[in-house]
Amino acid sequence: MFEHRWRLFRLFGFEVSIDPSWILIALLVTWSLAEGYFPSALPGHGKGLYWIMGVIGAVGMFVSIIFHEFCHSIVARRYGLPMKGITLFLFGGVAQMGDEPKSAKVEILMAAAGPAASIVLGGIFFAFFQLTRNLSGAIPELLAFLAVINWILAAFNLLPAFPLDGGRILRSILWWTKKDKSWATSTASAIGVGFGWVLIILGVLHMLKGNFLGGVWYALIGMFLGAAARSQGAVQEARSQFQRRKVSDLMTDDPVVLPADATIREVLEDHLLKQDFKFYPVVQDGRLAGCISTKTIKQTPPEQWDATKVMERAQSCGRSNAVSPDASAAEALKTMQDNSLRRLLVVRGEKLEGVVTLRDILGEKAWIEKIDGVAD
Ligand SMILES: [Zn+2]
Repeated sequence: MFEHRWRLFRLFGFEVSIDPSWILIALLVTWSLAEGYFPSALPGHGKGLYWIMGVIGAVGMFVSIIFHEFCHSIVARRYGLPMKGITLFLFGGVAQMGDEPKSAKVEILMAAAGPAASIVLGGIFFAFFQLTRNLSGAIPELLAFLAVINWILAAFNLLPAFPLDGGRILRSILWWTKKDKSWATSTASAIGVGFGWVLIILGVLHMLKGNFLGGVWYALIGMFLGAAARSQGAVQEARSQFQRRKVSDLMTDDPVVLPADATIREVLEDHLLKQDFKFYPVVQDGRLAGCISTKTIKQTPPEQWDATKVMERAQSCGRSNAVSPDASAAEALKTMQDNSLRRLLVVRGEKLEGVVTLRDILGEKAWIEKIDGVAD
């Protein structure tokens, strides 16, 4: 959904963007305020005033949504989560996280920050409304509108439907009580999907009663919520599967190895001309005897090629290029990234069980990112 976002400005290091759909919503909001809401709330004025109020009301709503998302982002950053930015789209805003919260406590604080900010901002607008209500006219009317809009924003986001804030709070409570994030996510997503259905049914009932436009809005929001909850649930599930996926499921179990008594010439002719590896495992009597880098092999002077055995030049393999078969795909990926390697030995004790490559792991990860793209 965010592929075509337009960047607006940067604020305290956060990039604020809008989805093109928001332009349509902004026009629709301005129009319905200028032609419908303000003329009935404050009758007896000219069209011009209502349009000015409509624009100010829409801008105020826009600023209120940014403020809401901004408070999520501030708390997220406070707990070390990388924030990509804030994007305003069809039904409000989304603070884009680069990562998932690490604990239930962080998630609850982050999720609650937005609605709390909206409730407080609504309260501030309400206080100013109280101070100016004797003036009667455009200013108190606008202040009252902005107070209510912020409270509606808080109330809507507090619906216990994941991935709305209320759904995230629900998930963190479930996560905290059962200590199982995966279960908490699927439960919260299922409740979100259920909420979507309830809204769709309410929409249909409204339509049957003759309130067609109102019914369409209920149904649209219901469909949006249901779809968001389903795809968020799928992404979370795939993420946790990737965390749980073991290296032994992804590795190749008959890797290229060098026998300890092979000469440098044999290795040069049989392997280095054909493969592009940074290092080779050296095996003696079925166990891992050491590792030799391609660089070491190439640096051997030609007059020593026939007399030197690879084992003489091999070194111990070390932790940086090996991983346990029980390690997770995510751990293997991190070891590769930390040591800029594309291939790791899979070693248990002294036994070489296989080799896992970046491609094996990325193949698994690409699948997850594909679903992730859909979820956005
Ligand atoms: Zn929020």
